[in-house]
Amino acid sequence: MRAFILTVACLFVVGISLAQTEPPRRPLPIIDVHVHAMKVNPGFAIEMCPWFLKDMPGGDPNQQMRAFLNASCVDPLQPAKSDQEMEAAVLATMERLNMTIIAYGDPQILRRWKKAAPDRVIPGIGVSSPKDMTVQAFTDSLSSGFYKVMGEVAPQYQGLSPSDMSLDGYFAAAEKLNIPVGIHMGTGGNGMANITSAKYRASLGRPFLLEDLLARHPKLKIWVMHAGYPMIEEMIALMGANAYVYVDLAGFIWSYPQEEIHAYLKRLVQAGFGKRILYGTDFMIWPKLFEASISVIENADYLSFEQKRDILFNNAVRFFRLDASKFK
Ligand SMILES: [Zn+2]
Repeated sequence: MRAFILTVACLFVVGISLAQTEPPRRPLPIIDVHVHAMKVNPGFAIEMCPWFLKDMPGGDPNQQMRAFLNASCVDPLQPAKSDQEMEAAVLATMERLNMTIIAYGDPQILRRWKKAAPDRVIPGIGVSSPKDMTVQAFTDSLSSGFYKVMGEVAPQYQGLSPSDMSLDGYFAAAEKLNIPVGIHMGTGGNGMANITSAKYRASLGRPFLLEDLLARHPKLKIWVMHAGYPMIEEMIALMGANAYVYVDLAGFIWSYPQEEIHAYLKRLVQAGFGKRILYGTDFMIWPKLFEASISVIENADYLSFEQKRDILFNNAVRFFRLDASKFK
């Protein structure tokens, strides 16, 4: 009898603990503000080793250029091989990491992603040169309501300053419609001017080049993509003078040496801008790049839990005027 009572008691306890088992909790939300929605180009579908720019040897114009990316490491990231594979991988990663993305690029791909995951994709549209589209066409696109962000704007690759007057009408439209703008400033990898973009100028990534644009458009909300790397002094001075300017960590977070990345990020936080740093990947074709880049923030032992949450989520909610309650 006693054994029976004990057994019943045990079953009861087991029953209670089973009833209390909750469904697995979702990870805390992440917002990636810098995702490229690209068509897969089989010619560019190559493996890549993160942090590959730890070695930038000089070349010779009379010899063949070294590959822009490097695939000689133990476990290179694999590219998606088709648009379908890419879409499936991006959707699955967003679900797994509880991640929302701000994405721009190929309009068809973007619309497909948005349709498949309407709550996780915030579409953006970029203009980098007046040749891309007219101001009217751009304004019409923004007014359609599909696009919530202007980006990636990359005049540096066109040999233009972001304050060049030929771009002013586009920024005026974004300012009027309350659309935040992401502008590429800074790095382009090793030998950008030699390999793909003859018009690219390192000097056109100087954060101070944004000052005239900001002065002309006092209500424009700008985030400086790639955090103006490596021009930390100008970046800090610009953010000090312009209270609405934020930065993202995209691109350099997975390409430059990790010590260098952490020194730059630490300096931004140390200078008082921990609330104005946005997490971004610069995702292109390697699905595992999301996790590889997030791990850089998670492993930053000089950041508190709250500072990491600010970078991965809270700062983007504030900058893009999102509703935090929708991300639970
Ligand atoms: Zn960029």
